[in-house]
Amino acid sequence: MFCLEPIGSRPKAQGLKTFFLFAALLPATVWAQAADTVLINGKVVTVDERESVVEALAIRDGRIVATGTTAAIRKLAGSGTRTIDVQGRTVIPGLIDSHLHAIRAALSFSTEVNWIGARSLEEALGRIRKAAQTMPRGAWLIVAGGWNEQQFAERRRPTQAELEAAAPENPVYVQLGYGWAVLTDDGLRALKLASDADVPNGGRLERDASGKPTGAVTGPQAAIIALFDRLPRPTYAQQVEGTRAFFRELNRLGLTGVMDPGGNNLTPPDYAAVQEVWRRGEMTVRVAYSLNGQTSGRELEDYKSLLSLVPMRFGDGTLRFVGLGERLTEAMNNNPRPGDADKEKYYEIARWAAQRGYGLTMHWGPDATVDHLLAIFERVNKEIPIAPLRWSIAHLNDASAKTLERMKALGVGWTVQDAMYFGGEGFVKQAGPDAARRVPPVVTADRLGVRIGGGTDAHRVASYNPFTALQWFLDGKTVSGLAMRGPEEIPTRQQALRFYTKGSAWFSHDDGERGSLEVGKLADLAVLSKDYLTVPVAEVGDIESVLTMLGGRVVYAAGTFASLESARR
Ligand SMILES: [Zn+2]
Repeated sequence: MFCLEPIGSRPKAQGLKTFFLFAALLPATVWAQAADTVLINGKVVTVDERESVVEALAIRDGRIVATGTTAAIRKLAGSGTRTIDVQGRTVIPGLIDSHLHAIRAALSFSTEVNWIGARSLEEALGRIRKAAQTMPRGAWLIVAGGWNEQQFAERRRPTQAELEAAAPENPVYVQLGYGWAVLTDDGLRALKLASDADVPNGGRLERDASGKPTGAVTGPQAAIIALFDRLPRPTYAQQVEGTRAFFRELNRLGLTGVMDPGGNNLTPPDYAAVQEVWRRGEMTVRVAYSLNGQTSGRELEDYKSLLSLVPMRFGDGTLRFVGLGERLTEAMNNNPRPGDADKEKYYEIARWAAQRGYGLTMHWGPDATVDHLLAIFERVNKEIPIAPLRWSIAHLNDASAKTLERMKALGVGWTVQDAMYFGGEGFVKQAGPDAARRVPPVVTADRLGVRIGGGTDAHRVASYNPFTALQWFLDGKTVSGLAMRGPEEIPTRQQALRFYTKGSAWFSHDDGERGSLEVGKLADLAVLSKDYLTVPVAEVGDIESVLTMLGGRVVYAAGTFASLESARR
């Protein structure tokens, strides 16, 4: 199939339709505007309405100008055109994580120890040992999250003694989710943690059966967040370097876009590093970010002052403001029983956001209490229709059909993360295997027409690897292999890919620009190491990109394509 269409959405191309149609019939050399790049001999999964797979595509000025057979696309190459033969590999639209705390993860990416994907505790401890050799003596070694003991063959957490042995000369801090962190003796001393009274916000020192401290701290989320805040921050230069390195790491995994929902331990000054990378023109991932409420109880005032000069969608294609969330107010954050005054304050912020045309994404846990939130959205919607604003709820893993119908009626979308990959065992224990079969009910939601974005919620509570999440979408299994979600809520491969591309792009109003490989759209794409459509599901998680492009520019290339990156254009 060969389809050559003009780029109707771009003023530059207006009126060229007839010319384009004729040009396609002429030898490429006489075609006035040859493609910059043609990508041929591929299995290009376009994620268009018909789920088409084509062989090739042509790119000009950062956008796709044609898709079709290799023979047809070759004709669009001129003498200056770069031809990339992908040798039968699968090409997908660049992946977009609709809920990744990327700005925060990036700040410390160059200074943290990363346990993401480690298959054994021994391997994880090896990463600490390695960091101890390269980091200066006395420097903190910090694992901020993104791991779970279920991923380790040993099925357990590290002990303080193991960390001491791995890094005898460095203080070590290892955080698990938002409920537990273990420190070496040096670390405990440096943070002045000698007794329970020294642990902030109601946390305490964990003790073994004999009452001896284990070196770990447990507590409510607020305790662990406050503890993390006591750790030294990376320098500004490290934050900038970390940001560039983290975006490259995302490119390695085929990601070209993220929606960043703010997060704990992230304040407005922390946005400086990503802003500097943006100013330098070095963004390799498109970041659409929203802003959390700042001061507990005074969130509306903060929003008004921080955002009075920031209209919705302010920014450009690589860094763009897209509204409020995922935490609007402290009072409604993880609170199953918000009071009337809390809800009234929340309503005022939501109405203000709607008046200003802002997006809004809200973190919510269980379906049982989501009426508190939906009732507010419905109240705002009576005054100002919110469907055009593309508001969303994040998490809500056990969403009921009734909730999904209310969301559909409001035009509120759902960003879905692979929380059950790490948390599935806990959910099954709590709710039982029957309830777990439909968690999260993505097929039902898709059938009802609720917009779905794929994602991870990385990097504290999950890995940022999109292929880990895609595999989980497709098999419903936890990291330790427990089959949890039933076949009736397992999407097809094309469907899951759509969630992670066009689906995610919808939330930042970008689905007309990216998220599929169609004529007129940005050439954000990834050439994969394995065929996502046919590889055994258990291998989906091992896929990486071998060539990632952002707006037609090579931002990551490996193996046989490596030379394309050094030639950067
Ligand atoms: Zn959240």
